[in-house]
Amino acid sequence: MNFSTDGLVIREQRIKEGDKVITILTRDKGVIRSFVNGANNIKSPKTTATGLITYSQFDIYLNSKGNYIIDDAHAKEVFMPLRQDIDKMALSQYFCELCEQFAPRDANAEEILRLTLNSLYMLAHNKLPIELIKCIFELRLMSVSGYMPDLVGCCECHIYEDDNMYFLPDSGQLICKSCKTENTGRSILTGKTVTNVMRHCVYSELNKLFSFTLSEKSTKTLGVVTENYCTLHLDKHLNTLDFYKQIRNLSE
Ligand SMILES: [Zn+2]
Repeated sequence: MNFSTDGLVIREQRIKEGDKVITILTRDKGVIRSFVNGANNIKSPKTTATGLITYSQFDIYLNSKGNYIIDDAHAKEVFMPLRQDIDKMALSQYFCELCEQFAPRDANAEEILRLTLNSLYMLAHNKLPIELIKCIFELRLMSVSGYMPDLVGCCECHIYEDDNMYFLPDSGQLICKSCKTENTGRSILTGKTVTNVMRHCVYSELNKLFSFTLSEKSTKTLGVVTENYCTLHLDKHLNTLDFYKQIRNLSE
């Protein structure tokens, strides 16, 4: 069986001289692993196109052992600015690991692929602060991966706005100050601004997703919400997140 698809390389593992296995977030089949033979010829377009964080067009076939093999590949976007900045590279690798965790297998992953490509583009071209791009990606990824939080209003009295609105990461709901009790459980004070930004991240059209600005203080609060909500649904610790935080601490 042969097929063509476009996709983003989210993991690259060398297995022996010239051969490697790559994990690709494809448009048509979600996350797949595929062998690449003869990947050390630096002049071959296939070598560039199968590198980590490269968006490419792939021709793939299934061999008799049931393994995917890259027949041919051509890079469409290599995100060069990300490779020249260690903070951005670290965040991109975290995005890739999140995709590997949350994107479907053997199913269409168009929405997650578009979100990831858009986020990498924003990151590469300094369109928004790096911390804010991280928040937007985390919350939107959860929303399109089956964990959409319910941010319409307080989960008890349904009030839409409150100066003291709280997010409940365990249930993905909001609760206002009047309804919150000591039995409410883990909560993060989000207030009006951050609550509205969270709504934007979850409910807006993809082409408007990155069209806003936010103060540094509110971005910090949003970051607590999105990282907590994201890691809560992971079944393992992500080393790429630790690495990103170490790099950010060093550069502050
Ligand atoms: Zn309430």
